Amino acid sequence: SEVAEFLKKHRIKVTGSDVPHPVKSFDMLCKEHEFPAFVQRNLQKFGFRQPTPIQMQAVPIAVHRRDLIANAPTGSGKTLAFLLSILHDINTPEKEGFRAVVVSPTRELATQIYEHMRNLTFGQKVKTCLMTKKAATLQAEDPMMRQRYDILVTTPLRLVHSIQKGEINLKHVRRLVLDEADTLMEKGFLEQVDEILAACTSPNLQISLFSATMPSSDPVRVIIGAMNS
Ligand code: ADP
Ligand code: MG
Repeated sequence: SEVAEFLKKHRIKVTGSDVPHPVKSFDMLCKEHEFPAFVQRNLQKFGFRQPTPIQMQAVPIAVHRRDLIANAPTGSGKTLAFLLSILHDINTPEKEGFRAVVVSPTRELATQIYEHMRNLTFGQKVKTCLMTKKAATLQAEDPMMRQRYDILVTTPLRLVHSIQKGEINLKHVRRLVLDEADTLMEKGFLEQVDEILAACTSPNLQISLFSATMPSSDPVRVIIGAMNS
């Protein structure tokens, strides 16, 4: 079929049932999936002309609120893939606290993701918070500040500290992205990731795992019984 040809051409492999079709262009993505106009404008403004293969396939999947495990090489544009997924449904300020969280293993990576999101939301009122030690302290002093943010970018340790101190709650989070998920699943981070997952209590939570590596190139997925939602 046409879709199969397209996937082959871009070396995209997918498994799962009823997988949403990939998109050829940002124009098609924004029109077919009804992104707000500023997204396409800011993609243009910051020089993103053509989606990379991971963006072509991962964004439509996440937009359909399907949970996602995405593996694509370093430098293949995974950041924009998950940021677009977030912006699809979180693109205006709501003042109800964080509705999307991106967890990244290092401060440096979190900062890059934050700056990328700032560009994509240029000129808009939707607000992204980079959770650093200083930001956490300010927000602890003024709890109302937290309500002003819609999207959170953070490291696991920083986020768990804030959850444990009761400075932050994740009950309105609708999208959780684990970037460099393979690293986050390793010993040392796993307990923190567990705690973050436990704090995301919304029944509408959609989870995406992004990483460059796979333990094997031909994994088999086994599901027994009904999945927990
Ligand atoms: P990864 O997380 O997969 O290693 P990044 O998301 O950091 O990769 O992206 C690598 C580089 O590619 C960044 O400089 C980013 O701005 C750029 N990039 C991402 N998507 C596109 C695109 N569609 N067109 C042009 N450049 C892109
Ligand atoms: Mg990355």
